[in-house]
Amino acid sequence: SLEIRHLYKTFGQTEVLKDIDVSINEGSFTCILGPSGSGKTTLLMILAGLEEASDGEIFYHGENLTDLPLEKRRVGIVFQHYALFPNLTVRENILFGVKNNLTAKEKDEKLARLLDLTHLAGLENRYPAELSGGQQQRVAIARALAINPRFLLLDEPLSALDPANRSRIGRELREIQKKAGVTCVMVTHDRTEALALSDYLIILNNGRIEQAGAPAEIYDRPKSAFVATFAGGMN
Ligand code: ATP
Repeated sequence: SLEIRHLYKTFGQTEVLKDIDVSINEGSFTCILGPSGSGKTTLLMILAGLEEASDGEIFYHGENLTDLPLEKRRVGIVFQHYALFPNLTVRENILFGVKNNLTAKEKDEKLARLLDLTHLAGLENRYPAELSGGQQQRVAIARALAINPRFLLLDEPLSALDPANRSRIGRELREIQKKAGVTCVMVTHDRTEALALSDYLIILNNGRIEQAGAPAEIYDRPKSAFVATFAGGMN
């Protein structure tokens, strides 16, 4: 499992994350849900190794990742600002971060596997601009999976899509995640999305975990007034 132990983050005088302490099961799809400014992105950046924690530790399978730099941490990232390279084809985008010690044949096999998993076969020579928003998002997921990540981090991956596509792409994302067997941690401020997609839900408010558990449990038995109004079934 992915273990986050007593994590704190301070920017200047502001405590943005306060004693974040939670375990995320291997193979789960976890959503971090919270209002704007609650610290969701900051938590994801720290898990990715893009931002340093002020205190606390991160373990994966008992291995301490806290001080591992980005390159050695090997986590897959699907962030909006980590967009696809517009001047590279789908194939080149997916294989961008793949180690050069693979043979051409091994790269082709990896590419074929990822194209199949993300339903992109036949599109490998296109450029991002020639793809729909959903297809671009699937390329981003394939690229993140190409490095054989320990786990996958997604920051609002569906927010740029129009409402009609959002739930469909969300379901596709879950299907890819299950097939790949990869642990996913996704940030969202959309409660419907979080309740529909996650099998573990972490509710963040003002830098603290208000409640963490199965989405049905949070919906039915919110522990606080905040959770009840923000994610509960009573609103
Ligand atoms: P949103 O849903 O709006 O993206 P969020 O829950 O992801 O919000 P964060 O982006 O993690 O929230 O920000 C949490 C708090 O930390 C905010 O008050 C923000 O202003 C502050 N913050 C984030 N990054 C920095 C930074 N580099 N320097 C100073 N303060 C920061």
